Amino acid sequence: MAIKAVKGINDILPNVVGRWQLVESVARRIFSNFGFQEIRIPILEKTELFARSIGETTDIVEKEMYTFPDRNGQLLTLRPEATASVVRAFIQHKLHLEPGMRKFYTMGPMFRHERPQKGRYRQFHQIDVEVFGVDDPMIDAEVIYMLLVYLQELKLPDIKMHINSMGCPDCRLPFRQSLADYLEGVSDKLCSDCQRRRRTNPLRIFDCKVDSCGKLVDEAPVLLEHLCHECGENFQSVQDNLHSLAVAYTIDPLLVRGLDYYTRTTFEAITPHLGAQDAVGGGGRYDGLMKVLGGPDLPGTGFAIGMERLILLLDDKAGAPKERNRLFVACLGEEAKSRGFSLAQELRVSGLSVEMDYESKSLKAQMRRADKLASTHVLIVGDDELAKGAALLRDMEASSQEEIPLEGLVEQLLGRMK
Ligand code: ATP
Ligand code: MG
Repeated sequence: MAIKAVKGINDILPNVVGRWQLVESVARRIFSNFGFQEIRIPILEKTELFARSIGETTDIVEKEMYTFPDRNGQLLTLRPEATASVVRAFIQHKLHLEPGMRKFYTMGPMFRHERPQKGRYRQFHQIDVEVFGVDDPMIDAEVIYMLLVYLQELKLPDIKMHINSMGCPDCRLPFRQSLADYLEGVSDKLCSDCQRRRRTNPLRIFDCKVDSCGKLVDEAPVLLEHLCHECGENFQSVQDNLHSLAVAYTIDPLLVRGLDYYTRTTFEAITPHLGAQDAVGGGGRYDGLMKVLGGPDLPGTGFAIGMERLILLLDDKAGAPKERNRLFVACLGEEAKSRGFSLAQELRVSGLSVEMDYESKSLKAQMRRADKLASTHVLIVGDDELAKGAALLRDMEASSQEEIPLEGLVEQLLGRMK
């Protein structure tokens, strides 16, 4: 039996790759305008990197990671997200010592063992953005703004920005207690996961996808109402900066993201067009993470976008490759085929997009193929023409044909087709 790909892990076929290239190239262009540089990080990391940064009691670390011992018995994990690796690389290469190198983006595959469904896969791709060393709330507004500019540039419909503040350890600790007290009162109505979370990490209950827990969460105390003075002012300042950039947003006190390292500003870009998987991207501030991972005490903020969800939202025609000035070389006869073969390579090297057929089909069949490839011109090389020292150039749009001498053919073609 033929071998199939692993469940939840998909191929990206040529008919959609234009859309992928579009989302990648628009990201590069826009992020670079905002001063971001690309960083490329490995797919495999030591498991402890994620356990320590994302949090032992989060869904990702508890049940979604692809973790295995390698042949030396070292525990490794296929990265479930990029922030931890970017922070690790930043610390490892002492990038904080270099001036002006603190805004990064990266893109690539991530791995989470989730139940595959539309918009949710086991290998998926993210575009990830990180800023280190700035705690001014202006930068929170700037990354939110940049995310929206990016999504607008892709013309994605009906994107809404939700924001919240997760406070700092000072306000989170007392809040955790009042949340735990509330949950104790309703504990018999919680799902089995939340029964456990109630003791280990009660904030995770806000992230629970079970309906009955959602109803209980609606009644629960919210962190936004328990922010300390500084966090309250900080959140107000983020909003003032968003206003100054004319960004529309909704405050969502129930927005708690699935990773423990977030502090203060958190946000998510939501769409109504993806069913249950409504988050296109999200992120926020993570001021303690760099230090937790053994680096300098630098604040951080960033976001990650799910690329598959972008692709699902894009118009089918988006990113279709532009019509190219494609030449098809049609050969009739053995000698012509050999001459056409070397001509095709020469023309490719000279900068034209060229295709030919190797199956020695009839001229009619070769013209059909040229048509299918949307070739604008066909160079017909026949043994008869060769004997005359010439070839025929057919302009497919004008349906006209002219004889071109083989002598200086490449220059002539380049001149006509550019
Ligand atoms: P969700 O609530 O949908 O599970 P999340 O909070 O786990 O999302 P993040 O860790 O914040 O997601 O990742 C950022 C983005 O990556 C998400 O907004 C989403 O677009 C995308 N994403 C996350 N998990 C998956 C997945 N399994 N398949 C496809 N895209 C995903
Ligand atoms: Mg998730």
